[in-house]
Amino acid sequence: MALNIALKISAQPAFRMPTPNLTLFDGQTSAAESFFAPTQSGHWETGRYGCTRTSGWQFHEGIDIKFTQQDKRGEPTDPIFATAGGTVCYTNQQPGLSNFGNYIIIGHQIEGLEIFSIYAHLSEIADGVVSGRKVEAGARIGTMGRTSNAGNIARFRAHLHFEITLAINEGYAEWFEINSPGQTNDHGPWNGRNFLGLDPEQIFMEQIRKGEDFSLKDYIQGQESYFSVYIPKKSFPWTKRYKPLIVQAPEVNDARKTGYIVHFNGYGLPYQLSPTVWNKSEPLDVELIQVNGNLYDPFKCRRLLSLKGTEFQLSKTALNLIDLLTFNGD
Ligand SMILES: [Zn+2]
Repeated sequence: MALNIALKISAQPAFRMPTPNLTLFDGQTSAAESFFAPTQSGHWETGRYGCTRTSGWQFHEGIDIKFTQQDKRGEPTDPIFATAGGTVCYTNQQPGLSNFGNYIIIGHQIEGLEIFSIYAHLSEIADGVVSGRKVEAGARIGTMGRTSNAGNIARFRAHLHFEITLAINEGYAEWFEINSPGQTNDHGPWNGRNFLGLDPEQIFMEQIRKGEDFSLKDYIQGQESYFSVYIPKKSFPWTKRYKPLIVQAPEVNDARKTGYIVHFNGYGLPYQLSPTVWNKSEPLDVELIQVNGNLYDPFKCRRLLSLKGTEFQLSKTALNLIDLLTFNGD
């Protein structure tokens, strides 16, 4: 009994707040304004994750956490902490090469899932924070800044852009070269476009609500299905990297399966995959199977489905995403 209590007290959340700004947890109505940094619009909601910008038409794939400290010149000085223990995967110290400015990506193994955290717009990356280096949860990895390839972020909205995210495909650089001739990718597979972000605010709140019962895998698998597709491939990078998201049907064994039914949430995260046997007359390609039309409007910023008359179809964006998801480099 005593041991049990001790364990409860010492249990750490899977993810810690990556800056000293803890006002999200204040539970007061004014807290959100102190926590989220707004876009130029000045509305704090635009610092949240989701279809929060440009009247719901622009996607923000992380959260913007506002500064709490400034030096005499008005520059943010908040230390940035690793949200969880892991390994540094990538650092970019050439701010002109990304709209993330100086950024760090850390990889984490959580419940068998390869999860990544991204810290962007930093003024400085701490000494020793280099690819391959292990970091502990809460370790200081850099300093908040205002860097971006689109010019410096205004002082009043200095923030950490923070993502908790899943990586789409290790072969991203190769895929990009084939699909974007003439364009450059300076970051290999560590390009922000190769990631599918979760909502960090929701994750922090779920952790508080559930305490030690919080499970990131349950959180991911508990997403609401916007649409599902049949993918006629027996294996692709996502099915290997995110095996825990596969829900096996006992009647479908590996020898019989012809592909996967993949459920996507409104933001395009393939959060559940079921091996399946396709019995209908051969589908030649990816097939849209089911749509929850109620989510069309709330998730319009991702433009994953389009309407042809009254019929939903996969948009170019969704087809591109599925193409990258299933790209085997062959
Ligand atoms: Zn942001």
